[in-house]
Amino acid sequence: MPKHVIVIGAGPAGLETSANLAKLGIAVTLVEKEESTGGHVKQWHALFPALLPGTEALDAIRKGMPENVRVQNKTTVTGIEAVNNYFTVSGHNGWQEKADAIVFATGFQLFDARRKEEYGYGIYENVITSADLEEMFATGKSLVNRHGNKPERIGFVHCVGSRDEKVNNLHCSKVCCITAVKQAIEVKQMLPEAEVFCFYMDLRMFGRHYEELYKEAQEKYNIQFIRGRLSESAEDQDGNIVLKVEDTLLGKPLRIKAGLLVLMVGMEPLAGTKSLADKLGLTKVPDGFIQPADEVLQSNFTELPGVFVAGACSGPKSVSDTLADARSAALAVAGFLKL
Ligand SMILES: Cc1cc2nc3c(=O)[nH]c(=O)nc-3n(C[C@H](O)[C@H](O)[C@H](O)COP(=O)(O)OP(=O)(O)OC[C@H]3O[C@@H](n4cnc5c(N)ncnc54)[C@H](O)[C@@H]3O)c2cc1C
Ligand code: SF4
Repeated sequence: MPKHVIVIGAGPAGLETSANLAKLGIAVTLVEKEESTGGHVKQWHALFPALLPGTEALDAIRKGMPENVRVQNKTTVTGIEAVNNYFTVSGHNGWQEKADAIVFATGFQLFDARRKEEYGYGIYENVITSADLEEMFATGKSLVNRHGNKPERIGFVHCVGSRDEKVNNLHCSKVCCITAVKQAIEVKQMLPEAEVFCFYMDLRMFGRHYEELYKEAQEKYNIQFIRGRLSESAEDQDGNIVLKVEDTLLGKPLRIKAGLLVLMVGMEPLAGTKSLADKLGLTKVPDGFIQPADEVLQSNFTELPGVFVAGACSGPKSVSDTLADARSAALAVAGFLKL
């Protein structure tokens, strides 16, 4: 009997894990709750650092998907049971299958910016999130705020819902500093006359070419990076957003009026992943992200034999890190199945 693996989640991690498992002769069922595959990358107009369109990246990942990968879409996995040497996985719609191993590739959820009420998302129309801005870029139309005006000043706020004890998220989401740099450049390309400010706690440019892009943002596009924390925003009668910021380098309070405020929302563990992990008896889920058996040496294994992790369900990752992690997960599964 060929071995059968169930991969939960068909974002970049699930797609890449499945393709690599299938190339090793393993039958794969890739279960996805949405109608189509691609995960969050479907929503990203252009990916940092080289502005590769999200759709092109997904086409490349999906291209040549082996036939022994069966996609079970519109199915949310709600139950997993370990029975003897196999797993029974079930969906909300009555779907059920058995597998020799399972891979969590369930990704993340976006932080709900409404939880930072003081920033005004969901209250003031011209406060949007980085995900909303990607959607605006994707329309290809000129950039106007929700009042139909070209904003003369645009502010980006880093670390929204990340590194924040008040919302119970201590982790750094890793991708939002570079996303802010990328989006600020895109805004300047569309509106060269606009003033663009990024308000940050620290700048984390960990990846290759990120630092260069940050330098370009300052030198070529004159984007202003201010080390400071937004305390609150308010709306004036023209729909502009008035920001109260503490410049933590100069030790001075600032008041800045912006036509558009963009909140860099972070990556949070998906609520459903935690409940699946609980059902399975995984105990290493400290902050909601699944913790690998060993962060350094066994990053795709969990404490339970036959249960693996790939991609952002074990912590924030860029797409390139996710794909590398997924390929490594496929090898870990093949090793476990002794292929
Ligand atoms: C605002 C923002 C912008 C970003 N921009 C970039 C960028 O420009 N470049 C870059 O490299 N990275 C970017 N990223 C990071 C990128 O989105 C992630 O690296 C990538 O999405 C991780 O892939 P994943 O497959 O692990 O998770 P996801 O993309 O979250 O995919 C997980 C999939 O699992 C499915 N799923 C979850 N639970 C279940 C379940 N119980 N049953 C069935 N299916 C389930 C979901 O529906 C989803 O399709 C950005 C992130 C954010 C927050
Ligand atoms: S990547 Fe930057 S914006 Fe995102 S949480 Fe980390 S420090 Fe904050």
